[in-house]
Amino acid sequence: MNYTRFITRVSQNRQPSLIRELTSLLTDASPELVFMAGGLPNPQMFPFQAASVTLRDGRALTIHPDLMTDCLQYGPTPGYPPLVKQLKNLTQKLHAPPRWSESDLIVTAGSQDGLCKALEMMIDPGDYIVTQEPCYTGTLSILNPYKPKYIPVKGDHEGMDPYALKEALSQWNPDDIRDLESGVPKVLYINPNACNPTGVSVNEQRRRQIYDIASDYNLIILEDDPYYFVQFGDMKDFPPSFLSMDTDGRVLRFDSFSKVLSSGIRVGYVTGPKPLVQRIALHKQVSILHAPSISQVLVSELLRTWGEEGFFKHTEAVQEFYRAQRDSMLAAADKHLTGLCEWAVPTGGMFLWLKVPAVIDTWDMIMKRALEKNVILVPGKAFMCDPSTPCQYMRAAFSVITQEKMDKGLKNLSELIREEIER
Ligand code: PMP
Repeated sequence: MNYTRFITRVSQNRQPSLIRELTSLLTDASPELVFMAGGLPNPQMFPFQAASVTLRDGRALTIHPDLMTDCLQYGPTPGYPPLVKQLKNLTQKLHAPPRWSESDLIVTAGSQDGLCKALEMMIDPGDYIVTQEPCYTGTLSILNPYKPKYIPVKGDHEGMDPYALKEALSQWNPDDIRDLESGVPKVLYINPNACNPTGVSVNEQRRRQIYDIASDYNLIILEDDPYYFVQFGDMKDFPPSFLSMDTDGRVLRFDSFSKVLSSGIRVGYVTGPKPLVQRIALHKQVSILHAPSISQVLVSELLRTWGEEGFFKHTEAVQEFYRAQRDSMLAAADKHLTGLCEWAVPTGGMFLWLKVPAVIDTWDMIMKRALEKNVILVPGKAFMCDPSTPCQYMRAAFSVITQEKMDKGLKNLSELIREEIER
């Protein structure tokens, strides 16, 4: 594929940082190399000498003294090399990308960082963007200042509807726009598993149809998938990722360890066609330089200590935990919200997406009156491309509250809704 049409003028003007490029020579450098190029601070002057963390199973994860410099010093922009290698292995195992030899993977400071840079690379002010609606607020927050022309695509309990996607694009003839550089949609954003906020996943058949449509219209798919490991079901039944069906080289996939290892550790990664991934690295070179070294070493050492089996055992435990949370939330919703709200059963993740058919817009009810009732949720408008349109939905997180709190919260919510209906 020719990627030029996807790259904004600002991004095209981003040049590799000379010092960053020279610093990358340090990876696998001969001990004979006298490196006088970079402004590396001397780690002898850093106050940290050793690091060890205790895992929940009681084991100690001790960073070998030889790795302390890697933890504390500037590192390569694409990521800590042993971690990059581990993540490439994991990606190959889970997604078997068909164009693997033409793909690359870089570590980001969480997937938000990767998304922000990918959009900076591809979206000019006023551009079109095709996105699922409702859409993750963090993506809308990146996009809104570009004042894009949103092409929102609705879905249902099985995620984005390919017919709605086709309909949304119907004003264009794919043959006329495939190669145009501006004034046409070029990017499709989708959060395919346990979508934030709806909690539902796109089924396999729909994924294949969506991929084909993206192929017809020559769209790059941004596959934002931080809940991959928080799908409720057997891993072998997870629907295939867009990356795994990417025969064209049009998918940028965003992964994250936030939901399974730690959100504060800020480690995610982007995988996709080399020209795009390496350009995202240019945007990192001028912003964060690289994801935090200590976090990357910690994740890498954890994965090494656990091995693949240990990692998957952990992700299974994470799934089980959130599935139980979801079930408690559904029980509380059945008890308190039946007849007041409608919802689809979340297939993963941390959210219940509630529709209140009797309320035209949930915004005022939540923003002005919910606090008095001792309950707070996110009004659905926050996930809409056009916040001026009334929205009957709201998002309730079940990730960190106890069963008791779910019961109390949804009881309070039911009273709030009843009062709202009577207003
Ligand atoms: N995408 C989606 C859909 C999310 O829900 C989140 C976290 N709320 C992110 C991206 C960002 O996650 P992180 O930067 O922590 O990896």
